[in-house]
Amino acid sequence: MELLSNYIGGRWTPASATEWLDVHNPARGEVIARTPMSSAMNVDAAVQAAAAAFPGWSETPPVVRARTMFAFKQRLEDHFEELARLVTTEHGKTLDESRGSLRRAIECVEVACGGPSMLMGYGLENIAANIDCTVMKQPIGVCAAIAPFNFPAMVPLWFLPFAVVCGNTFVLKPSEQVPLSMQRMFRLLEECDLPPGVVNLVNGGKDVAEAICDHPGIKAVSFVGSTTVARHIYQRATHAGKRVQALGGAKNFIVVMPDADLDRAMPIISESFFGCAGERCLAGSILVPVGPSHPDVRDRLVATAESLKVGDGLEPGIDMGPVISARHRNRVLGYVEAGVREGATLVADGRKRSLPKSGFFVGPSVFDQVSASMSIGHEEIFGPVATVAPVKDLDEAFRMMYAHPNANATSIFTSSGKAAREFAHRATASMVGVNIGVAAPMSYFPFGGARDSFFGDLKVHGRDAFEFYTDKKVTISRWF
Ligand code: NAD
Repeated sequence: MELLSNYIGGRWTPASATEWLDVHNPARGEVIARTPMSSAMNVDAAVQAAAAAFPGWSETPPVVRARTMFAFKQRLEDHFEELARLVTTEHGKTLDESRGSLRRAIECVEVACGGPSMLMGYGLENIAANIDCTVMKQPIGVCAAIAPFNFPAMVPLWFLPFAVVCGNTFVLKPSEQVPLSMQRMFRLLEECDLPPGVVNLVNGGKDVAEAICDHPGIKAVSFVGSTTVARHIYQRATHAGKRVQALGGAKNFIVVMPDADLDRAMPIISESFFGCAGERCLAGSILVPVGPSHPDVRDRLVATAESLKVGDGLEPGIDMGPVISARHRNRVLGYVEAGVREGATLVADGRKRSLPKSGFFVGPSVFDQVSASMSIGHEEIFGPVATVAPVKDLDEAFRMMYAHPNANATSIFTSSGKAAREFAHRATASMVGVNIGVAAPMSYFPFGGARDSFFGDLKVHGRDAFEFYTDKKVTISRWF
Protein backbone atom coordinates (compact mmCIF):
# COMPACT_ATOMS: atom_id res chain seq x y z
CA MET A 1 0.00 0.00 0.00
CA GLU A 2 1.55 3.29 -1.13
CA LEU A 3 1.31 6.12 1.40
CA LEU A 4 1.69 9.26 -0.70
CA SER A 5 4.01 12.16 0.07
CA ASN A 6 4.05 15.79 -0.92
CA TYR A 7 6.78 17.27 -3.09
CA ILE A 8 8.04 20.51 -1.61
CA GLY A 9 11.21 22.46 -2.40
CA GLY A 10 12.61 19.61 -4.52
CA ARG A 11 12.06 16.92 -1.87
CA TRP A 12 9.47 14.23 -1.23
CA THR A 13 8.13 15.23 2.16
CA PRO A 14 5.65 13.40 4.39
CA ALA A 15 2.47 15.40 5.03
CA SER A 16 1.50 16.40 8.55
CA ALA A 17 -1.82 14.60 8.07
CA THR A 18 -4.06 13.10 10.72
CA GLU A 19 -6.48 11.82 8.08
CA TRP A 20 -5.84 9.68 5.00
CA LEU A 21 -8.16 8.92 2.10
CA ASP A 22 -8.19 5.53 0.38
CA VAL A 23 -7.47 5.67 -3.35
CA HIS A 24 -9.29 2.90 -5.23
CA ASN A 25 -8.89 1.12 -8.49
CA PRO A 26 -12.55 1.74 -9.38
CA ALA A 27 -12.68 -1.26 -11.72
CA ARG A 28 -11.78 -3.64 -8.91
CA GLY A 29 -12.93 -1.76 -5.82
CA GLU A 30 -9.48 -2.35 -4.29
CA VAL A 31 -7.55 0.21 -2.28
CA ILE A 32 -4.29 0.96 -4.11
CA ALA A 33 -2.87 3.93 -2.18
CA ARG A 34 -3.69 6.43 0.54
CA THR A 35 -3.78 10.19 0.11
CA PRO A 36 -2.71 12.35 3.03
CA MET A 37 -5.15 15.11 3.90
CA SER A 38 -2.40 17.69 4.22
CA SER A 39 -2.76 20.77 6.38
CA ALA A 40 -2.49 24.54 5.89
CA MET A 41 1.01 24.19 7.36
CA ASN A 42 2.00 21.95 4.44
CA VAL A 43 0.59 24.49 1.99
CA ASP A 44 2.61 27.19 3.72
CA ALA A 45 5.80 25.14 3.38
CA ALA A 46 5.11 24.69 -0.36
CA VAL A 47 4.41 28.40 -0.84
CA GLN A 48 7.59 29.32 1.01
CA ALA A 49 9.63 26.97 -1.18
CA ALA A 50 7.95 28.39 -4.30
CA ALA A 51 8.50 31.98 -3.14
CA ALA A 52 12.18 31.26 -2.47
CA ALA A 53 12.58 29.80 -5.97
CA PHE A 54 10.77 32.67 -7.69
CA PRO A 55 13.55 35.31 -7.91
CA GLY A 56 15.96 32.90 -9.61
CA TRP A 57 13.38 31.24 -11.84
CA SER A 58 11.76 34.47 -13.01
CA GLU A 59 15.20 35.77 -14.04
CA THR A 60 16.04 32.55 -15.91
CA PRO A 61 15.91 33.23 -19.66
CA PRO A 62 12.58 32.07 -21.14
CA VAL A 63 14.40 29.87 -23.63
CA VAL A 64 16.08 28.00 -20.76
CA ARG A 65 12.74 27.68 -18.95
CA ALA A 66 11.23 26.32 -22.16
CA ARG A 67 13.96 23.67 -22.38
CA THR A 68 12.72 22.16 -19.13
CA MET A 69 9.35 21.70 -20.81
CA PHE A 70 10.98 20.07 -23.87
CA ALA A 71 12.63 17.65 -21.41
CA PHE A 72 9.30 17.05 -19.65
CA LYS A 73 7.54 16.38 -22.97
CA GLN A 74 10.19 13.80 -23.87
CA ARG A 75 9.75 12.01 -20.56
CA LEU A 76 5.98 11.99 -20.97
CA GLU A 77 6.41 10.42 -24.41
CA ASP A 78 8.91 7.87 -23.05
CA HIS A 79 6.48 6.84 -20.30
CA PHE A 80 3.28 7.26 -22.33
CA GLU A 81 1.89 3.74 -21.96
CA GLU A 82 2.84 3.46 -18.31
CA LEU A 83 1.10 6.79 -17.56
CA ALA A 84 -2.00 5.85 -19.56
CA ARG A 85 -2.30 2.61 -17.57
CA LEU A 86 -1.91 4.57 -14.37
CA VAL A 87 -4.73 6.94 -15.35
CA THR A 88 -6.99 3.96 -16.08
CA THR A 89 -5.97 2.25 -12.84
CA GLU A 90 -6.82 5.17 -10.61
CA HIS A 91 -9.71 6.67 -12.58
CA GLY A 92 -11.37 3.78 -14.41
CA LYS A 93 -11.69 5.22 -17.93
CA THR A 94 -10.68 2.87 -20.74
CA LEU A 95 -7.07 2.68 -21.84
CA ASP A 96 -7.89 4.42 -25.13
CA GLU A 97 -9.63 7.22 -23.26
CA SER A 98 -6.60 7.55 -20.97
CA ARG A 99 -4.28 7.67 -23.97
CA GLY A 100 -6.43 10.43 -25.49
CA SER A 101 -6.34 12.49 -22.29
CA LEU A 102 -2.60 12.02 -21.98
CA ARG A 103 -2.09 13.17 -25.56
CA ARG A 104 -4.08 16.31 -24.69
CA ALA A 105 -1.89 16.78 -21.60
CA ILE A 106 1.30 16.51 -23.66
CA GLU A 107 -0.07 19.03 -26.16
CA CYS A 108 -0.24 21.57 -23.33
CA VAL A 109 3.44 20.97 -22.64
CA GLU A 110 4.14 21.41 -26.36
CA VAL A 111 2.40 24.80 -26.42
CA ALA A 112 4.35 25.83 -23.33
CA CYS A 113 7.56 24.91 -25.19
CA GLY A 114 6.73 27.88 -27.45
CA GLY A 115 6.80 30.16 -24.41
CA PRO A 116 9.60 32.46 -25.65
CA SER A 117 7.49 33.46 -28.66
CA MET A 118 4.27 33.71 -26.68
CA LEU A 119 5.89 35.86 -23.99
CA MET A 120 7.02 38.60 -26.35
CA GLY A 121 5.70 42.04 -25.62
CA TYR A 122 5.18 44.92 -28.02
CA GLY A 123 6.05 48.59 -28.34
CA LEU A 124 5.85 51.81 -30.31
CA GLU A 125 8.44 54.46 -31.05
CA ASN A 126 7.57 58.14 -30.85
CA ILE A 127 4.35 57.96 -28.89
CA ALA A 128 5.30 61.64 -28.54
CA ALA A 129 8.40 63.27 -30.00
CA ASN A 130 11.41 61.12 -28.97
CA ILE A 131 9.39 59.15 -26.45
CA ASP A 132 9.06 55.37 -26.84
CA CYS A 133 6.77 52.90 -25.17
CA THR A 134 7.28 49.14 -24.63
CA VAL A 135 5.19 46.42 -23.06
CA MET A 136 6.92 43.46 -21.39
CA LYS A 137 5.16 40.40 -19.99
CA GLN A 138 6.54 39.54 -16.56
CA PRO A 139 5.78 36.55 -14.34
CA ILE A 140 3.53 37.25 -11.37
CA GLY A 141 4.88 35.03 -8.57
CA VAL A 142 3.64 31.88 -6.90
CA CYS A 143 0.64 30.38 -8.73
CA ALA A 144 -1.51 27.42 -7.64
CA ALA A 145 -4.00 25.01 -9.19
CA ILE A 146 -6.68 22.77 -7.69
CA ALA A 147 -7.79 19.85 -9.89
CA PRO A 148 -10.86 17.57 -10.17
CA PHE A 149 -10.95 13.77 -10.29
CA ASN A 150 -12.08 13.20 -13.85
CA PHE A 151 -8.82 13.90 -15.75
CA PRO A 152 -5.97 13.01 -13.37
CA ALA A 153 -3.17 13.65 -15.89
CA MET A 154 -4.65 16.26 -18.23
CA VAL A 155 -6.25 18.95 -16.06
CA PRO A 156 -3.13 19.67 -13.94
CA LEU A 157 -1.18 20.14 -17.18
CA TRP A 158 -3.67 22.78 -18.33
CA PHE A 159 -1.76 24.94 -15.81
CA LEU A 160 1.66 23.71 -14.68
CA PRO A 161 3.59 23.98 -17.99
CA PHE A 162 2.22 27.45 -18.76
CA ALA A 163 2.80 28.85 -15.26
CA VAL A 164 6.35 27.52 -15.20
CA VAL A 165 7.41 28.60 -18.69
CA CYS A 166 6.11 32.10 -17.93
CA GLY A 167 8.63 32.27 -15.05
CA ASN A 168 6.27 31.64 -12.15
CA THR A 169 6.67 29.02 -9.45
CA PHE A 170 3.84 26.62 -8.80
CA VAL A 171 1.88 24.66 -6.21
CA LEU A 172 -0.48 21.89 -7.34
CA LYS A 173 -3.24 20.20 -5.40
CA PRO A 174 -4.44 17.17 -7.36
CA SER A 175 -7.79 15.54 -6.61
CA GLU A 176 -7.47 13.42 -3.49
CA GLN A 177 -9.36 10.68 -5.35
CA VAL A 178 -6.79 10.35 -8.16
CA PRO A 179 -3.39 11.50 -6.89
CA LEU A 180 -1.20 8.82 -8.53
CA SER A 181 -0.71 10.28 -12.01
CA MET A 182 0.71 13.46 -10.51
CA GLN A 183 2.98 11.51 -8.13
CA ARG A 184 4.45 9.86 -11.20
CA MET A 185 4.62 13.03 -13.28
CA PHE A 186 6.42 14.89 -10.49
CA ARG A 187 9.01 12.09 -10.46
CA LEU A 188 9.47 12.78 -14.17
CA LEU A 189 9.64 16.54 -13.56
CA GLU A 190 12.48 15.85 -11.11
CA GLU A 191 14.57 14.79 -14.12
CA CYS A 192 13.94 18.02 -16.04
CA ASP A 193 16.45 20.46 -14.50
CA LEU A 194 13.88 22.53 -12.63
CA PRO A 195 15.46 24.23 -9.59
CA PRO A 196 14.01 23.11 -6.22
CA GLY A 197 10.79 24.93 -5.35
CA VAL A 198 9.71 25.73 -8.92
CA VAL A 199 7.06 22.99 -8.84
CA ASN A 200 5.46 21.72 -5.64
CA LEU A 201 2.78 19.13 -4.96
CA VAL A 202 0.49 19.17 -1.93
CA ASN A 203 -2.02 16.34 -1.59
CA GLY A 204 -5.27 16.81 0.23
CA GLY A 205 -8.85 18.03 0.05
CA LYS A 206 -10.93 21.02 1.08
CA ASP A 207 -8.47 22.26 3.75
CA VAL A 208 -5.61 22.42 1.26
CA ALA A 209 -7.83 24.14 -1.34
CA GLU A 210 -8.96 26.76 1.17
CA ALA A 211 -5.42 27.31 2.46
CA ILE A 212 -4.41 27.99 -1.16
CA CYS A 213 -7.21 30.56 -1.49
CA ASP A 214 -6.19 32.32 1.72
CA HIS A 215 -2.39 32.23 1.54
CA PRO A 216 -1.02 35.75 1.07
CA GLY A 217 2.03 34.40 -0.78
CA ILE A 218 -0.03 33.02 -3.70
CA LYS A 219 -0.82 35.46 -6.51
CA ALA A 220 -3.05 33.38 -8.80
CA VAL A 221 -5.36 30.39 -8.39
CA SER A 222 -6.76 28.11 -11.08
CA PHE A 223 -9.57 25.76 -10.14
CA VAL A 224 -11.47 23.04 -11.99
CA GLY A 225 -14.39 21.16 -10.42
CA SER A 226 -18.08 21.40 -9.63
CA THR A 227 -19.97 24.70 -9.84
CA THR A 228 -20.62 24.98 -6.09
CA VAL A 229 -16.95 24.63 -5.24
CA ALA A 230 -15.82 26.76 -8.22
CA ARG A 231 -17.98 29.64 -7.01
CA HIS A 232 -16.69 29.23 -3.45
CA ILE A 233 -13.04 29.15 -4.57
CA TYR A 234 -13.55 32.15 -6.86
CA GLN A 235 -15.14 34.21 -4.09
CA ARG A 236 -12.67 33.20 -1.41
CA ALA A 237 -9.51 33.63 -3.49
CA THR A 238 -10.57 36.90 -5.13
CA HIS A 239 -11.51 38.18 -1.66
CA ALA A 240 -7.90 37.45 -0.70
CA GLY A 241 -6.76 39.62 -3.63
CA LYS A 242 -5.77 36.93 -6.09
CA ARG A 243 -6.30 36.55 -9.82
CA VAL A 244 -8.60 33.54 -10.25
CA GLN A 245 -9.98 31.35 -13.00
CA ALA A 246 -12.50 28.78 -11.72
CA LEU A 247 -14.06 26.27 -14.10
CA GLY A 248 -17.29 24.70 -12.87
CA GLY A 249 -19.79 21.99 -13.73
CA ALA A 250 -21.88 21.50 -16.83
CA LYS A 251 -25.15 20.36 -18.38
CA ASN A 252 -24.39 20.17 -22.07
CA PHE A 253 -27.10 20.25 -24.75
CA ILE A 254 -26.66 18.29 -27.96
CA VAL A 255 -29.17 19.43 -30.58
CA VAL A 256 -30.00 17.15 -33.52
CA MET A 257 -31.77 18.76 -36.49
CA PRO A 258 -34.05 16.72 -38.75
CA ASP A 259 -31.52 17.12 -41.58
CA ALA A 260 -28.62 15.58 -39.59
CA ASP A 261 -26.79 12.62 -41.10
CA LEU A 262 -27.65 10.16 -38.31
CA ASP A 263 -25.46 7.34 -39.61
CA ARG A 264 -22.46 9.55 -39.03
CA ALA A 265 -23.79 11.58 -36.11
CA MET A 266 -25.14 8.94 -33.75
CA PRO A 267 -21.86 7.09 -33.01
CA ILE A 268 -20.27 10.46 -32.22
CA ILE A 269 -23.23 11.56 -30.09
CA SER A 270 -23.36 8.26 -28.17
CA GLU A 271 -19.65 8.56 -27.41
CA SER A 272 -20.25 12.05 -26.07
CA PHE A 273 -22.85 10.75 -23.58
CA PHE A 274 -21.20 7.51 -22.50
CA GLY A 275 -17.46 8.08 -23.11
CA CYS A 276 -15.46 8.19 -19.84
CA ALA A 277 -18.67 6.81 -18.24
CA GLY A 278 -20.21 10.28 -18.60
CA GLU A 279 -17.57 11.79 -16.30
CA ARG A 280 -16.50 14.55 -18.66
CA CYS A 281 -17.30 18.23 -18.24
CA LEU A 282 -17.92 18.30 -22.00
CA ALA A 283 -20.07 15.16 -22.06
CA GLY A 284 -23.45 15.37 -23.72
CA SER A 285 -26.08 15.48 -20.95
CA ILE A 286 -29.33 16.43 -22.70
CA LEU A 287 -30.02 15.20 -26.19
CA VAL A 288 -32.42 17.56 -27.95
CA PRO A 289 -33.89 16.06 -31.13
CA VAL A 290 -35.72 18.67 -33.18
CA GLY A 291 -39.08 17.80 -34.81
CA PRO A 292 -39.37 14.46 -36.59
CA SER A 293 -35.82 13.32 -35.78
CA HIS A 294 -36.91 12.32 -32.25
CA PRO A 295 -37.86 8.62 -32.46
CA ASP A 296 -34.95 7.63 -34.67
CA VAL A 297 -32.40 9.56 -32.59
CA ARG A 298 -33.72 8.11 -29.33
CA ASP A 299 -33.85 4.55 -30.61
CA ARG A 300 -30.31 4.68 -31.95
CA LEU A 301 -29.01 6.06 -28.64
CA VAL A 302 -30.82 3.27 -26.78
CA ALA A 303 -29.35 0.65 -29.11
CA THR A 304 -25.83 1.94 -28.44
CA ALA A 305 -26.40 2.16 -24.68
CA GLU A 306 -27.52 -1.47 -24.64
CA SER A 307 -24.62 -2.69 -26.73
CA LEU A 308 -21.77 -1.03 -24.81
CA LYS A 309 -19.37 -3.48 -23.24
CA VAL A 310 -18.85 -2.37 -19.63
CA GLY A 311 -15.83 -3.56 -17.65
CA ASP A 312 -12.26 -2.95 -16.55
CA GLY A 313 -10.81 -0.35 -18.90
CA LEU A 314 -7.45 -2.09 -18.91
CA GLU A 315 -8.99 -5.05 -20.74
CA PRO A 316 -9.20 -5.00 -24.53
CA GLY A 317 -12.61 -4.53 -26.13
CA ILE A 318 -14.15 -2.61 -23.21
CA ASP A 319 -16.23 0.43 -24.26
CA MET A 320 -16.99 1.88 -20.85
CA GLY A 321 -15.30 1.65 -17.44
CA PRO A 322 -16.66 2.20 -13.93
CA VAL A 323 -17.43 5.52 -12.24
CA ILE A 324 -14.96 6.90 -9.73
CA SER A 325 -16.26 5.61 -6.38
CA ALA A 326 -18.97 3.64 -4.61
CA ARG A 327 -20.37 6.94 -3.36
CA HIS A 328 -20.57 8.37 -6.87
CA ARG A 329 -22.14 5.14 -8.19
CA ASN A 330 -24.88 5.48 -5.57
CA ARG A 331 -25.37 9.12 -6.47
CA VAL A 332 -25.76 8.27 -10.18
CA LEU A 333 -28.16 5.41 -9.39
CA GLY A 334 -30.09 7.87 -7.21
CA TYR A 335 -30.64 9.98 -10.34
CA VAL A 336 -32.00 6.96 -12.21
CA GLU A 337 -34.53 6.43 -9.40
CA ALA A 338 -35.35 10.15 -9.33
CA GLY A 339 -35.96 10.16 -13.09
CA VAL A 340 -38.46 7.31 -12.79
CA ARG A 341 -40.16 8.98 -9.82
CA GLU A 342 -40.38 12.33 -11.58
CA GLY A 343 -42.15 10.81 -14.60
CA ALA A 344 -39.47 10.56 -17.31
CA THR A 345 -39.64 7.46 -19.51
CA LEU A 346 -36.76 5.05 -18.84
CA VAL A 347 -36.09 3.61 -22.30
CA ALA A 348 -32.76 1.92 -21.46
CA ASP A 349 -32.43 0.70 -17.89
CA GLY A 350 -28.76 0.27 -16.99
CA ARG A 351 -29.74 -1.25 -13.64
CA LYS A 352 -30.80 -4.41 -15.48
CA ARG A 353 -27.37 -4.92 -17.05
CA SER A 354 -25.20 -7.68 -15.73
CA LEU A 355 -22.04 -5.93 -14.58
CA PRO A 356 -18.74 -7.05 -13.04
CA LYS A 357 -19.32 -7.82 -9.35
CA SER A 358 -16.37 -5.92 -7.93
CA GLY A 359 -15.78 -2.28 -8.81
CA PHE A 360 -18.01 0.76 -9.14
CA PHE A 361 -19.89 -0.02 -12.34
CA VAL A 362 -23.09 1.62 -13.55
CA GLY A 363 -24.93 0.33 -16.62
CA PRO A 364 -25.73 2.98 -19.24
CA SER A 365 -29.29 4.33 -19.08
CA VAL A 366 -31.42 6.55 -21.32
CA PHE A 367 -34.45 8.59 -20.28
CA ASP A 368 -36.92 10.02 -22.80
CA GLN A 369 -39.41 12.90 -22.37
CA VAL A 370 -37.23 14.67 -19.85
CA SER A 371 -38.18 18.19 -18.82
CA ALA A 372 -36.18 20.96 -17.13
CA SER A 373 -38.32 20.69 -13.97
CA MET A 374 -37.00 17.16 -13.30
CA SER A 375 -33.76 16.79 -11.35
CA ILE A 376 -32.29 14.71 -14.20
CA GLY A 377 -33.27 17.55 -16.57
CA HIS A 378 -31.31 20.26 -14.80
CA GLU A 379 -28.69 18.78 -12.44
CA GLU A 380 -25.29 17.49 -13.53
CA ILE A 381 -25.41 13.68 -13.19
CA PHE A 382 -21.78 13.07 -14.24
CA GLY A 383 -22.42 9.44 -15.06
CA PRO A 384 -23.71 7.23 -17.91
CA VAL A 385 -27.31 8.45 -17.78
CA ALA A 386 -28.48 10.16 -20.97
CA THR A 387 -31.59 12.29 -21.08
CA VAL A 388 -33.64 13.05 -24.19
CA ALA A 389 -35.78 16.20 -24.38
CA PRO A 390 -37.53 16.48 -27.76
CA VAL A 391 -38.47 19.96 -29.06
CA LYS A 392 -40.57 21.35 -31.96
CA ASP A 393 -37.95 23.64 -33.43
CA LEU A 394 -34.56 25.27 -32.90
CA ASP A 395 -36.11 28.22 -31.04
CA GLU A 396 -37.50 25.87 -28.43
CA ALA A 397 -34.03 24.31 -28.07
CA PHE A 398 -32.57 27.80 -27.49
CA ARG A 399 -35.23 28.58 -24.85
CA MET A 400 -34.30 25.40 -23.00
CA MET A 401 -30.60 26.29 -23.17
CA TYR A 402 -31.15 29.90 -22.09
CA ALA A 403 -33.09 28.74 -19.02
CA HIS A 404 -30.17 26.64 -17.75
CA PRO A 405 -27.57 28.32 -15.52
CA ASN A 406 -24.66 26.24 -16.86
CA ALA A 407 -23.15 26.96 -20.24
CA ASN A 408 -20.01 24.92 -20.72
CA ALA A 409 -20.23 23.18 -24.11
CA THR A 410 -22.97 22.51 -26.63
CA SER A 411 -23.22 20.96 -30.09
CA ILE A 412 -25.53 20.89 -33.06
CA PHE A 413 -25.78 18.08 -35.60
CA THR A 414 -27.10 19.29 -38.94
CA SER A 415 -26.35 19.49 -42.65
CA SER A 416 -27.63 23.08 -42.79
CA GLY A 417 -24.98 25.81 -42.74
CA LYS A 418 -27.65 28.32 -41.79
CA ALA A 419 -28.78 26.36 -38.72
CA ALA A 420 -25.16 25.74 -37.71
CA ARG A 421 -24.26 29.40 -37.98
CA GLU A 422 -27.30 30.52 -36.03
CA PHE A 423 -26.56 27.92 -33.36
CA ALA A 424 -22.92 28.96 -32.93
CA HIS A 425 -23.94 32.61 -32.78
CA ARG A 426 -26.80 32.28 -30.30
CA ALA A 427 -25.60 29.47 -28.00
CA THR A 428 -24.94 30.45 -24.38
CA ALA A 429 -22.07 27.97 -23.96
CA SER A 430 -18.64 29.17 -25.00
CA MET A 431 -17.42 25.89 -26.44
CA VAL A 432 -19.59 25.05 -29.45
CA GLY A 433 -19.46 22.00 -31.71
CA VAL A 434 -20.90 21.70 -35.20
CA ASN A 435 -21.20 17.98 -35.95
CA ILE A 436 -18.70 17.45 -33.09
CA GLY A 437 -19.65 15.39 -30.04
CA VAL A 438 -17.16 16.76 -27.51
CA ALA A 439 -16.29 20.36 -28.35
CA ALA A 440 -12.95 20.41 -26.51
CA PRO A 441 -10.64 23.24 -27.63
CA MET A 442 -7.06 22.09 -28.29
CA SER A 443 -4.22 23.31 -26.08
CA TYR A 444 -3.51 26.34 -28.32
CA PHE A 445 -7.10 27.62 -28.02
CA PRO A 446 -8.88 28.92 -24.90
CA PHE A 447 -10.83 26.35 -22.87
CA GLY A 448 -13.66 27.28 -20.51
CA GLY A 449 -17.39 27.85 -20.34
CA ALA A 450 -19.71 30.71 -19.44
CA ARG A 451 -22.38 31.53 -16.83
CA ASP A 452 -22.18 29.12 -13.85
CA SER A 453 -19.66 26.96 -15.69
CA PHE A 454 -16.90 29.55 -15.43
CA PHE A 455 -15.93 32.23 -12.92
CA GLY A 456 -13.19 34.60 -14.04
CA ASP A 457 -12.04 36.33 -17.21
CA LEU A 458 -9.08 34.59 -18.78
CA LYS A 459 -9.66 31.01 -19.81
CA VAL A 460 -7.43 27.98 -19.66
CA HIS A 461 -4.50 27.26 -22.01
CA GLY A 462 -3.95 28.84 -25.43
CA ARG A 463 -3.04 32.53 -25.52
CA ASP A 464 -5.16 33.20 -22.44
CA ALA A 465 -2.72 31.15 -20.32
CA PHE A 466 0.14 33.50 -21.19
CA GLU A 467 -2.04 36.44 -20.17
CA PHE A 468 -3.22 34.80 -16.94
CA TYR A 469 0.32 33.96 -15.85
CA THR A 470 1.93 37.34 -16.60
CA ASP A 471 1.57 41.00 -15.81
CA LYS A 472 2.09 43.62 -18.49
CA LYS A 473 4.70 46.18 -17.64
CA VAL A 474 4.58 49.34 -19.72
CA THR A 475 7.75 51.43 -19.89
CA ILE A 476 7.62 54.94 -21.37
CA SER A 477 11.08 56.37 -22.02
CA ARG A 478 12.76 59.54 -23.13
CA TRP A 479 16.54 59.97 -23.35
CA PHE A 480 17.97 63.49 -22.98
P1 NAD B 1 -15.22 18.84 -6.86
O1 NAD B 1 -15.72 20.25 -6.99
O2 NAD B 1 -15.85 17.95 -5.87
O3 NAD B 1 -13.65 18.88 -6.47
C1 NAD B 1 -12.71 19.60 -7.22
C2 NAD B 1 -11.54 19.98 -6.33
O4 NAD B 1 -12.00 20.81 -5.27
C3 NAD B 1 -10.86 18.79 -5.66
O5 NAD B 1 -9.47 18.99 -5.70
C4 NAD B 1 -11.38 18.81 -4.24
O6 NAD B 1 -10.44 18.35 -3.30
C5 NAD B 1 -11.67 20.28 -3.99
N1 NAD B 1 -12.84 20.50 -3.12
C6 NAD B 1 -13.95 19.72 -3.00
N2 NAD B 1 -14.83 20.30 -2.16
C7 NAD B 1 -14.27 21.44 -1.74
C8 NAD B 1 -14.71 22.49 -0.87
N3 NAD B 1 -15.89 22.44 -0.27
N4 NAD B 1 -13.89 23.54 -0.67
C9 NAD B 1 -12.69 23.61 -1.29
N5 NAD B 1 -12.23 22.65 -2.15
C10 NAD B 1 -13.01 21.59 -2.36
O7 NAD B 1 -15.22 18.22 -8.32
P2 NAD B 1 -14.89 16.71 -8.74
O8 NAD B 1 -16.00 15.84 -8.28
O9 NAD B 1 -13.50 16.36 -8.39
O10 NAD B 1 -14.95 16.85 -10.34
C11 NAD B 1 -16.12 16.77 -11.09
C12 NAD B 1 -16.66 18.14 -11.42
O11 NAD B 1 -15.67 18.90 -12.10
C13 NAD B 1 -17.85 18.11 -12.35
O12 NAD B 1 -18.80 19.05 -11.90
C14 NAD B 1 -17.28 18.53 -13.70
O13 NAD B 1 -18.20 19.11 -14.59
C15 NAD B 1 -16.25 19.50 -13.26
N6 NAD B 1 -15.24 19.70 -14.29
C16 NAD B 1 -15.31 20.85 -15.01
C17 NAD B 1 -14.40 21.05 -16.03
C18 NAD B 1 -14.48 22.30 -16.86
O14 NAD B 1 -13.65 22.46 -17.74
N7 NAD B 1 -15.44 23.18 -16.64
C19 NAD B 1 -13.41 20.11 -16.30
C20 NAD B 1 -13.37 18.94 -15.53
C21 NAD B 1 -14.30 18.75 -14.52
